Amino acid sequence: MKLYRVKKSNIDRKGRGLYATQDIKEGTRIIDYVGKIITKKQTEDSEKFDNSKPIYLFNLNNQYDLDGDVSWNTARLINHSCLNNCDYEGQGLKLWVVAIKDIKKGEELTCDYGFGYDQDFRQFPCKCESKNCCGYIVRAESRWRINKRFSLGFKKNNRLNR
Ligand SMILES: [Zn+2]
Repeated sequence: MKLYRVKKSNIDRKGRGLYATQDIKEGTRIIDYVGKIITKKQTEDSEKFDNSKPIYLFNLNNQYDLDGDVSWNTARLINHSCLNNCDYEGQGLKLWVVAIKDIKKGEELTCDYGFGYDQDFRQFPCKCESKNCCGYIVRAESRWRINKRFSLGFKKNNRLNR
C-alpha cells in the first residue's frame, strides 16, 4: 500500500497535496522525486526558470539539475510548510522524500522548499499557519531575516487582511 494519497490541500487551498494513508515512522522513504535530468546549461538557457523561482528544480551535482515539474512526478504536489514533516534526500542522480518525524495517518506531508532569502521572496507567501511561519516560503536558516525585517506588527496586519 502506498504511504500517501493525493487530496485537496489544507495549505495550498487552490491546489492538491499529499496525505499520509497510515502512521509513518521517522526515517521512512515515502516517495521518489522524479523528473527530467537536465544539464546546468539547459537550466541557464531555459526561460522556464527565468521569471519564477524554480520551485521544482533541484541541484543534483555540479553538472546536472533535476526538473521535477512533470506530470508523472507526484512528489511535486507536496506543499511547503515552515514546520515540515518531510525532507528531500538524494544520492547520485536520485531524489526522494523522507519522513523527518513520526507522521500520523491523515496528516499532510510537507517539505521545506529551501528558498534563499532575496528580493523575490514576496512572490511566495506561505499559508502553512505553523507557529513558526514567517509568512513566506523561505528556508529555515533564512527565516530569521524576515522575522527581523517585518517584526510582529507586520504579521498582525497581514493576518487582519486575510
Ligand atoms: Zn509557513
